[in-house]
Amino acid sequence: MENVLLVRYGEIHLKGLNRPFFERKLVEGIKHALSDLGATVRMEQGRIFVLGIKDKDRDEAVDRLTRVFGIHSISPAVAVEKEWGAIADSAMELMRRALGESRSAFKVMARRADKRFPMNSEEINRELGHVLLESFPGLSVDVHSPKIKMCVEIREKAYLYCEEIPGANGMPTGTAGRAALLISGGIDSPVAGYLMAKRGLELSAVHFYSYPYTSERARDKVVDLTGLVARYSGPIRLHLVPFTEIQLAIYEQCPPKETTVLMRRLMMKIAERWAREDGALALITGEALGQVASQTLESLCVTDDAVDMPVFRPLIGFDKDDIIDIAKKINTFNTSILPYEDCCTVFVPQHPVTKPKVEDLRSSEAMVDFECMIQKAMADTETLIVTQSGSEKAEA
Ligand code: ATP
Ligand code: MG
Repeated sequence: MENVLLVRYGEIHLKGLNRPFFERKLVEGIKHALSDLGATVRMEQGRIFVLGIKDKDRDEAVDRLTRVFGIHSISPAVAVEKEWGAIADSAMELMRRALGESRSAFKVMARRADKRFPMNSEEINRELGHVLLESFPGLSVDVHSPKIKMCVEIREKAYLYCEEIPGANGMPTGTAGRAALLISGGIDSPVAGYLMAKRGLELSAVHFYSYPYTSERARDKVVDLTGLVARYSGPIRLHLVPFTEIQLAIYEQCPPKETTVLMRRLMMKIAERWAREDGALALITGEALGQVASQTLESLCVTDDAVDMPVFRPLIGFDKDDIIDIAKKINTFNTSILPYEDCCTVFVPQHPVTKPKVEDLRSSEAMVDFECMIQKAMADTETLIVTQSGSEKAEA
């Protein structure tokens, strides 16, 4: 009896000729997630088998797999020879573990992928049902809503399992290219990054800070949040951009009601340059329509006007409560609500314009030599490679 993890994949099934590419990326993602656990990964007939995981590492391996995009579900299973005695024995062993001392209702669900096996799935259901009922007095059969599902798959071996753990779904990381996330310390942007990574994007991230108006702790918080997103997306190149000079120039030299939108345009411009450096083809923000003055339709149009890249806003139609639910699910919420200031909140105008006009913003912007400041901010940017286990300075 050998332990295996049976991995089913989701949407890749819909792919046509390029399906092998997606499968290969998914296997790479799984190998990467389990690299230090001595796993071997094998793909066969639309299933992935993970072998060689030690008993003590099994829960950890399953937990990591629940964060690998492209996986629909995971079943910790046992593999035995396709021989009735072995199948019945391991079914009893699994039932013993699942049942404990309690009474319960069960159902056998057999699938015969190898048609040379002498019993068809109906016969396996019936025979194994008998064996289990006779061996466990606390058991009864319930074919409609069984507590315990004893699943048997007959392939090149027989696989038995009782559990199906939901995966993260989405598309395997690295199948959709790269985009750059504008990450603040708030609730929304990490969720936006997660949702786009889920569609197969690799991530870069850009964060703007304003020493001395924002603190070292606010910066650390952003590095931590990036690490939490990296648990799903894989390593993230994080660019920490000093933004004080630009913010002060906006504050001192531009119309007060435009400061927020101008700041957002300049953030987008700098993020776009870092995106190009990293080979990213789009920007990602955590904006949601109508959430604040800078997220009205007019403001979003004016923001888009600052850059030539597509801007992905996966939260655009989300309510805050829905965003918070996801933030809790991916474990970024508690870090996001730590009370450190963001550079956006430092210089907030009292009466921000809610229907800005592109021409007005362009002409306000032209009054100041921002290009020079942008170049300086780029030169003074610090770049980190952030993974789920920490961060280090990127090579220049
Ligand atoms: P969040 O909860 O992500 O902070 P928010 O609702 O507070 O979002 P804003 O502060 O208006 O909204 O920012 C909108 C978006 O702009 C953010 O989701 C993020 O993508 C980007 N952004 C805001 N501040 C920064 C920053 N300091 N550095 C990088 N990106 C930022
Ligand atoms: Mg914010």
